[in-house]
Amino acid sequence: MRLLIVEDQVSLADELLADLGRAGYAVDWLADGRDALYQGASEPYDLIVLDLGLPGKPGLEVLREWRAGGLATPVLILTARDHWAERIEGLKAGADDYLTKPFHPEELQLRIQSLLRRAHGLANQTRLEAGGVQLDESKQSVLHNGKEITLTAAEFSLLRYLMLHPQQIVSKLQLLEHLYDGETERDSNVIEVHVNHLRRKLGKAVIETRRNQGYLFNGLQAGNATGLAL
Ligand code: CA
Repeated sequence: MRLLIVEDQVSLADELLADLGRAGYAVDWLADGRDALYQGASEPYDLIVLDLGLPGKPGLEVLREWRAGGLATPVLILTARDHWAERIEGLKAGADDYLTKPFHPEELQLRIQSLLRRAHGLANQTRLEAGGVQLDESKQSVLHNGKEITLTAAEFSLLRYLMLHPQQIVSKLQLLEHLYDGETERDSNVIEVHVNHLRRKLGKAVIETRRNQGYLFNGLQAGNATGLAL
């Protein structure tokens, strides 16, 4: 999943980039409200973390213009402590959630996970679960029949993206756009390699290839996580 962080306090932005990067998100960072207004609407972000006090254009205005222009991307606003009026204005302007500074990094992670599940119609889940696969986002591993299967960072990000799009064909282009930040070179062969690694770990049937269309997440067949499925 690809996130945009709009935050002009460099030390906080650095922390957010590091934390969210470790959590397997592709993250772009902007400090200016005008840049955010443009880039937030033109790049396919899965979620935006928006500070309100920004140079260039206030965060609230940016958010109002995004929503007026039809942008439906989940937005989590960061607000200063005690500014309850700001939080109310933020929610009225179309924010999906807010967090008061200073905040615990784990709270941000959990709110982001929850917003992403909600945005993909999985609001009933307390953790990501599809097709017999339980994804532990904090440990970046899969739980299957009580057994833990560890994943690399790339495998984890790919699997999470597919699990957030159950029963949908996901194209390679879509994966490239959502698994990499704006600065990283994208190579669709790498996607194929990671898909194959996931199949080796979880079973061949877990991800189906649809020729010329993309991939379809099927999940694990009952009782089989060892690659025995054909
Ligand atoms: Ca600020």
